[in-house]
Amino acid sequence: MEKAFIQSLSSLLSSSRKVVIIPHKNPDGDAIGSTLALKHFLTKKGHQVSVVSPNDYPAFLEWLPGEEYIIKYTEKSIQAKKIIAEADIIFTLDFNDLSRIDVMSTLVELASATLVMIDHHENPKEYAQLTYSDNLMSSTCEMVYNVIKFLDPNAFTAEIATCLYTGIMTDTGSFKYRSTTSKTHTAIATLINAGAQNTTIHQNIYDTFSFDRIKLLGLTLSSMKKIEGLPVVYMALNQALLNRCNFRKGDTEGFVNYGLSLYGIQVAVILIENEGEGKIKMSFRSKGGFSVNDFARKYFNGGGHINASGGMSMKTLEETQKDLVDAIKLEKNNLIIDD
Ligand code: 5GP
Ligand code: MN
Repeated sequence: MEKAFIQSLSSLLSSSRKVVIIPHKNPDGDAIGSTLALKHFLTKKGHQVSVVSPNDYPAFLEWLPGEEYIIKYTEKSIQAKKIIAEADIIFTLDFNDLSRIDVMSTLVELASATLVMIDHHENPKEYAQLTYSDNLMSSTCEMVYNVIKFLDPNAFTAEIATCLYTGIMTDTGSFKYRSTTSKTHTAIATLINAGAQNTTIHQNIYDTFSFDRIKLLGLTLSSMKKIEGLPVVYMALNQALLNRCNFRKGDTEGFVNYGLSLYGIQVAVILIENEGEGKIKMSFRSKGGFSVNDFARKYFNGGGHINASGGMSMKTLEETQKDLVDAIKLEKNNLIIDD
């Protein structure tokens, strides 16, 4: 974290402000965890704080302290527009390109507030007056931890600790991805000391599947195909399958990772049909040097991190699977192939 960033932020927060905090669309544990942790911290410091999410988030996040205060733009757009227009400071967390908040991007661009970005994705856009961007960080929650620690190391309450622990845990695959450092573990130790109940958090996030969701996982795994001769697997879910399992937002979270648990596989992909939006949402994961960030950016209008990214296609599920196989074949020189 640069000194200039934290000093400017500190002086920006030196008097009571109207603050709005925004996570990316389809927010995950890191996006919701970081926005809520920052909300708790700034509220305690005397600011008037709102969280506006572009849309809904998965049920497995609905227990996080303070989540009941989140305003969903899709449900309360008039209220959301008003508070964004009246804000003194807008924090954008866990994304670095305003296109990631869809229709809300225009509101943020037109707002008179000072914009602050805290994010760990690659290729940041320059839209904020204050930017803390570091793609080597495990999670936005670890970055918010650094910010709070600098501003007031005694401020970690159990609520803040719970939110930050959750986001660090979900974005690091429970502390196993390469972005997990000794600093991440030091932060986690501080958060447990501050009251984060680690076992309960793991159970709340990972052991709360509905019966429908576990069936959907089974169907997803059954759809897995390996691309002939290459260390790549993909899974596809059509809308009919999703409907059969009473799909709810977040139900497919984490499914793509099963592809990487296969011996020798370097890239795993999941394709999920969304008939309502007329598109296929794709998630990419890799192990090692193959950059799924570059891959998603080049072929599927997306991005993210080197080992975890997302993208989309407006074609049919069948056509998108074919495009995927063709794109992987074009990139096969970037894969390590054992003969
Ligand atoms: P997921 O596959 O879990 O949706 O996303 C994996 C990572 O890629 C996350 O860090 C997410 O923010 C990023 N990501 C997902 N979809 C998109 C997208 O359409 N565009 C960009 N730029 N990033 C994405
Ligand atoms: Mn994140």
